Amino acid sequence: MRTRFRGQTVREGVLLHGPAGWGEFSPFPEYGPRECARWLACAREAAFDGWPAPVRDAVPVNATVPAVGPEQAHDLVRRSGCGTAKVKVAEPGQPFSADVARVEAVRDALGPSGRVRIDANGAWDVGEAVRRLKELDRFGLEYAEQPCATLEELAAVRRACDVPIAADESIRRAEDPLRVRAAEAADIAVVKVQPLGGVRAALRVVEACGLPAVVSSAVETSVGLAAGVALAAALPELPYACGLGTMSLLSGDVVADSLVPEGGMLPVRRPDVSFEHLSDFEIDCPSWLRRMQEASL
Ligand SMILES: [Mg+2]
Repeated sequence: MRTRFRGQTVREGVLLHGPAGWGEFSPFPEYGPRECARWLACAREAAFDGWPAPVRDAVPVNATVPAVGPEQAHDLVRRSGCGTAKVKVAEPGQPFSADVARVEAVRDALGPSGRVRIDANGAWDVGEAVRRLKELDRFGLEYAEQPCATLEELAAVRRACDVPIAADESIRRAEDPLRVRAAEAADIAVVKVQPLGGVRAALRVVEACGLPAVVSSAVETSVGLAAGVALAAALPELPYACGLGTMSLLSGDVVADSLVPEGGMLPVRRPDVSFEHLSDFEIDCPSWLRRMQEASL
């Protein structure tokens, strides 16, 4: 990875090949077999079943701004060509003033018509979240992603301020979006294909939940991103830019023609694995075979 993201500096996973194409199985290191089973179901769907027909041929994406300084943030957003940017805030070890400076720089880069969303990854308590969202909202926030960790806290923040709330970490399993909705904890559901068990499973979850969905990646290669794109392409409604423009967070890819946005849009397509690119990143994989076996049980 180019920058530390979600506390990680390296992204690992397994690629599966089947009659329908390539699938990616890349659960985070701390995930156990029960959670990994859904991530594996997503890779198997990609490799063996393929995906439902798309209803659009391109999907809008947001630029993702890690916890960098304001000049770098400004530059990154300008170069992205995206009309929406997601800004990471509440990075451990950084003062809130760094968040303010970063969000201000991003608003400046996007201009008044751009959309700025923030992501705190559950770091704040209710009081901090309410105070900080009110302060950051002077730059105009589209929504705040996971300002606090628990559903109860999210619901309290949602009652106390006007910034729409999106649930991300609160949604790790198929039943979670319904719990989010029942707790009145969020206005928006961030959905990712791997943790929800694939494109078809995610479509069912979104439909059952009834909240508008933002399709995001789990920082996959272009193989995994293609599954997210397939979900975004198949959703009946897509009111928000997707968090699928994340290839820029990785220092390399396993395909020759990466799924990278142009003019803030990702085309709906499936790139093929390039063995030449793959060989740059190949690792010894006994531990991954074990994870796959445990996830299959
Ligand atoms: Mg998030």
